[in-house]
Amino acid sequence: MTKEQALSLIAQKREAIRALNMASALMHWDAATSGVPEKSLTARSAAVGWLGGEAFGRFIAEDTLQAIETLEGVLDRLDERERAMVREMGRKYRKIKAVPTEEMKEYRALTAQAEPIWEKAREKNDFAMIQPYYEKIFDFQRRLCDWFGYQKHPYDALLDDYEKGATVEMLDGFFAQLREEIAPLVKMIGQRGSAPREIKGAFPIAKQRGLTPWLYSFVGFDASRGKVGEVAHPFCITISRDDVRITTKYHEDDLLSSLYSVIHEAGHGLYEQNMDASLESYGLDDCASMGMHESQSRLYENMIGRSRAFAGVLLPKLRELFDGFGDWDAETLFRAINIARPSLVRIEADELTYCLHIIVRYELEKALLAGEIKVCDLPGLWADKYEELLGVRPPDNAKGVLQDVHWSAGLVGYFPSYAVGNAYAAQIMQAMRKTVDVDGAVGKGNLAPVEAWLCENIHRHGELYRPDELLRRATGEGFNPAYYVAYLKEKFTELYK
Ligand SMILES: [Zn+2]
Repeated sequence: MTKEQALSLIAQKREAIRALNMASALMHWDAATSGVPEKSLTARSAAVGWLGGEAFGRFIAEDTLQAIETLEGVLDRLDERERAMVREMGRKYRKIKAVPTEEMKEYRALTAQAEPIWEKAREKNDFAMIQPYYEKIFDFQRRLCDWFGYQKHPYDALLDDYEKGATVEMLDGFFAQLREEIAPLVKMIGQRGSAPREIKGAFPIAKQRGLTPWLYSFVGFDASRGKVGEVAHPFCITISRDDVRITTKYHEDDLLSSLYSVIHEAGHGLYEQNMDASLESYGLDDCASMGMHESQSRLYENMIGRSRAFAGVLLPKLRELFDGFGDWDAETLFRAINIARPSLVRIEADELTYCLHIIVRYELEKALLAGEIKVCDLPGLWADKYEELLGVRPPDNAKGVLQDVHWSAGLVGYFPSYAVGNAYAAQIMQAMRKTVDVDGAVGKGNLAPVEAWLCENIHRHGELYRPDELLRRATGEGFNPAYYVAYLKEKFTELYK
């Protein structure tokens, strides 16, 4: 195979795989947002399964490897984008091939069974129901570590799957800093007597729907190249670069839930919309990593959306749409959107305590993969760690070890990406502030300078660089969690002094 034949073969495959994935994504969107008929599940699942199989089959075929190897042999004759394409394709291909096909099939069937069992176990507060599934899932994950290979800790093999380059060594250092600096701060806040004023009342959903376009436009999400839907659990899905769809869920008694989910998902959407169009033909129109994607949503949600400057522009908008804000001022609103308190449930956690919830999961996954603890130890260890880090102990397993879907879905090594994303966001923000007056832009209600900086330094590059390299180019240094720790300490010490 010549270099030209290899490039042309990959281009053909990519076009077909893109079309197949687009069809699956549209079916997924339809099922999640439009209230499809109850009995449509079977036929749709079969079709989605077939489409996925077709895409997978094309990718994993022998000639893909021949094309990759041909291009790997002529790297010095490829341009930067072609080299990145070969690097990413080679990485994905070899990871998939490392896993015996039969074992992978069995594992897919296992997790498909485990998810509904997990739902029931949580409902019934019965860990024993899911325990045998978790045991098999972690057994498989341990074997996966061996198939993928690792240098120091088996967990490294899984971490790298979600966060390229992440290792136990890197994360141990990161989480130790959080443990040392943030856990005492959280405990201090928990013991405070006077609580900030809270936003309470009924907020008609029709009016909340009216706020959504203002929110995503504020972020810069381009509604002519995307849309917003309503779902049970908000997400962002890319049909194509010019069709990026975000979602939210409205709660009449909780204004902030939808408000911040729109800002969060619009932050994800912006990343997708701003990738350079030319990356598509190299298959590099993807995020640098899960953590980098999450850094973009959290930067908008927390660092901008929960800033003093944003409270100043949000208040008049809330007054315009809802009753009950007449006697509020911007400072009171700033405090109300930043209430921090130790809690039991990760997805309801505030900006400050969130990372501690991740540490619990990180330490348990790491110990399970190293064979230091067993699945049956999880409920007790989970409760102990919550008590130690957050000062709260779950009353039962439903509010404890059974709260996340991840393990039953077979996602092991995913959690740290959330915390890493927060830390990337803080590092990116401090670099941006050197040349962009972020608070000034927020105060004027014009985030164009923020978007322009992010587009230039992060968004447009897609998957061209690995996350550490992207971070180095954007901020002048590799991953440095000190910015995140300092940001949290400064913000919340001031808020709760
Ligand atoms: Zn997110």
